Amino acid sequence: MSVPMTGAQWRAALRAEGVQFVELEGWTGRGRDEATGKPFGPVYGVLNHHTAGVDSLNLIAYRGQGAAVPAPLAHALLPKDGIVVLVAGGRANHAGTTTGNILGAIVAERSIPRPDRASGVVDANDALYGLETENLGDGEDVYPRGQYDTLVRFNTAVCRHHGWSAGSAAGHLETSLEGKPDPAGPVEGYGRRGRFQLTMNQLRADVGERLAHAASWSPATEEDDMPEYVNLGLARSYRLASGLWDDVQFTKEWADEPGHHAENSATFVKGPARFTGTLSLRLEWLPAGEVVQVRMSEWEGGTRVHDHPPHEVIGTEGGTYSTVPLTKRVGPGREMRVELSNQAGGEIEVASVVLSALVWVES
Ligand SMILES: [Zn+2]
Repeated sequence: MSVPMTGAQWRAALRAEGVQFVELEGWTGRGRDEATGKPFGPVYGVLNHHTAGVDSLNLIAYRGQGAAVPAPLAHALLPKDGIVVLVAGGRANHAGTTTGNILGAIVAERSIPRPDRASGVVDANDALYGLETENLGDGEDVYPRGQYDTLVRFNTAVCRHHGWSAGSAAGHLETSLEGKPDPAGPVEGYGRRGRFQLTMNQLRADVGERLAHAASWSPATEEDDMPEYVNLGLARSYRLASGLWDDVQFTKEWADEPGHHAENSATFVKGPARFTGTLSLRLEWLPAGEVVQVRMSEWEGGTRVHDHPPHEVIGTEGGTYSTVPLTKRVGPGREMRVELSNQAGGEIEVASVVLSALVWVES
């Protein structure tokens, strides 16, 4: 299970997780394996870094850090635009040394202890993928939302491929014996979370959350909490006979964002959703003191399943005007309609019905 990923496996894992990437020419065959005589792997985790610079691709892919630390310096680079560059498939010079007890904790997916040199000093480049995420590392440079989202997706893609938990994602600051500080810095936001500081525990929590979902999942964002707007009415007035409950056919749409209205002009919201709004009525010919009842009814598959308690509109001289509150939750697979019942002895005219509501569609 811990054989390093092939080019095809990288591509498949990243695509499935929704990571955009480009490939550096010849990247699958690039690495320090031949030069060092130490083939890359078996692998046990992803080591996260920040670049502490900008435009680092040339440095990471080609230039390296002099004769002592030749390129490649990572397996992948994650720039600010969130589009990963695949740099090397083989052994890369990113991790330096660590200790046996730290590598053992990553292998066992336990929380990472402080280094214990007595447990032995080991070459972490043997066993860890390296991701360099572009950030100045000055504590002020912000990781944009999209970049952090990709950071989570990249780590998750690798963990999911290998069947690892989020405990296989580590940070250089956790493994380094030289006091490396990366990765760190402020993040613009993630999901419903606003600005926060990048920590490995937070990154692992976010990777763990992704792993608990299908690879195609995306975290809910604040925008998902924004209500949609429904505003419906009548194209023309109609006559309503005495006695029967009759559903209002909304034949005019000023706004119908949830699009629930199209299939059935009586349906003004389809579950699962919460909504709040008003129904404004203007009735003619309703004698003073006589009553028209208004209620919401729930339908499922064309069948009435539940009626809500009615409101009473009482006739007044010179036309009857009324506003009825609409606030409810409608469950999955159910539709909500508005119904009127004319309790007066004779026919009335429904001159105007305007429904305005905010709708929170539930996922
Ligand atoms: Zn580093």
